[in-house]
Amino acid sequence: MAEDCIFCKIAAGEVPSETVQEDEHTLAFMDLNPWTRGHALVIPRNHSRNLYEVAEDDLRHAAAASKRLALRMRERLDCDGVNVLNACEPAAWQTVFHFHLHVIPRYDDDPLQLPIRPRQAGPDELARVADQLRGG
Ligand code: AMP
Ligand code: ZN
Repeated sequence: MAEDCIFCKIAAGEVPSETVQEDEHTLAFMDLNPWTRGHALVIPRNHSRNLYEVAEDDLRHAAAASKRLALRMRERLDCDGVNVLNACEPAAWQTVFHFHLHVIPRYDDDPLQLPIRPRQAGPDELARVADQLRGG
């Protein structure tokens, strides 16, 4: 447990949360500021800052817990879809530095929109960036 980590405190039961699902490795609870009705967060019980640092086992457990929660959302909330979102570092909107996955139920008539309009890549753009990423 990391000192002064709000999600570690939630996992330890020291800070209240609306927990909806838990197992040995993970906890899922309602986000205080939901994007849609039912927006929840899945965290590994083990502390890590974010995707860069999370142990692969914790990541696997959190991903599996997100799937279970998504199925529960479909059944109980009658949502039409689900977004799973992770923010890694402030540049990517991370505000709480304990790894978590947002599991956001989506409804055909909800008001969420992508904040950007993606454009098609230019000639060679994909090849150039893929070159940077490829290999060991
Ligand atoms: P992120 O920006 O990806 O780091 O998301 C952090 C999320 O945690 C935000 O959506 C907050 O609304 C949510 N949050 C912060 N504190 C709490 C808390 N005590 N209980 C539930 N959700 C929280
Ligand atoms: Zn923590």
